[in-house]
Amino acid sequence: MACNGVGTPRILLNSVSARFPHGLANTSGQVGRNLMFHPYASITGYFDDELDGERGPDNAYWSHEFYETDTSRGFLRGFIYEFNRGTATASTAIGGLAAGRIPWGGGHHDAYRRIHRRSTGLGAICEDLPEPHNRVTLDPILKDIHGIPAPRIDYTLSENSQRMLDFAVARATDILKAAGAYDVEFESPIPRGGWHLMGTARMGTNPETSVVNEWGRSHDVKNLFIVDGSIFTTSAGVNPTPTIQALALYVADQMKQRLATLFD
Ligand SMILES: Cc1cc2nc3c(=O)[nH]c(=O)nc-3n(C[C@H](O)[C@H](O)[C@H](O)COP(=O)(O)OP(=O)(O)OC[C@H]3O[C@@H](n4cnc5c(N)ncnc54)[C@H](O)[C@@H]3O)c2cc1C
Repeated sequence: MACNGVGTPRILLNSVSARFPHGLANTSGQVGRNLMFHPYASITGYFDDELDGERGPDNAYWSHEFYETDTSRGFLRGFIYEFNRGTATASTAIGGLAAGRIPWGGGHHDAYRRIHRRSTGLGAICEDLPEPHNRVTLDPILKDIHGIPAPRIDYTLSENSQRMLDFAVARATDILKAAGAYDVEFESPIPRGGWHLMGTARMGTNPETSVVNEWGRSHDVKNLFIVDGSIFTTSAGVNPTPTIQALALYVADQMKQRLATLFD
């Protein structure tokens, strides 16, 4: 299975039989549970001077300063910052209008010039933690064109992730002000986030609390392997795809090494 954090549990939950009445590989009841995203905060500073940031590489710097747990911060685990370059001409216009910084009519051009090439910012990718009530189930009504039940997603941002976001915004504001920003704005969490889908068929050594074993094989079904974001145990505060690729290679390697006894 490699249909990622929503597609994989959807297929498993739809695959019911007398042996697996609650879905394939779901004796533990964990399939679909522990759905994690990456709550993402975007923080932008506006400067008097031109920065020329749009000419540089995107995401030029990354910081792991706040990645590990420090309980004095009031939350577990942490986040990384990605330092974004400034926005270019069209995105300044679109972003500026959306944020209410560039009015139509009189003053439009002055307001545009005030922020064009004069902003830069940070994104904070927060490590969501597994919570069983955040989950993928099957929608009781909605179906695809083949009549197969669609996935339904229930997710509530945890207090831990909310505290992490608040801390990330506050430190990013400090950074931008120290760098000379005359104004700082933020979105937290950004509403269009939720592209990283993790945790819904998690890995573990205990068949009662996990779906696949430590090398990606289903505890219940010995010829079923999962190689996507659903086997993550936490979300890690970084973009997930290199880790998904590494897990796919790792599981493939394990299969090769264990070929003689793979299904025992
Ligand atoms: C807008 C956006 C931006 C992103 N940016 C980044 C980034 O910057 N860095 C990063 O690391 N990650 C990023 N991601 C996440 C990244 O795309 C995923 O982590 C990655 O694609 C996962 O790879 P995958 O092969 O496991 O799953 P997917 O690429 O999701 O592939 C799963 C495949 O399974 C298929 N499938 C699902 N259900 C069924 C079914 N029932 N029958 C048949 N086929 C099915 C799907 O059609 C799909 O082709 C981003 C995602 C989005 C949406």
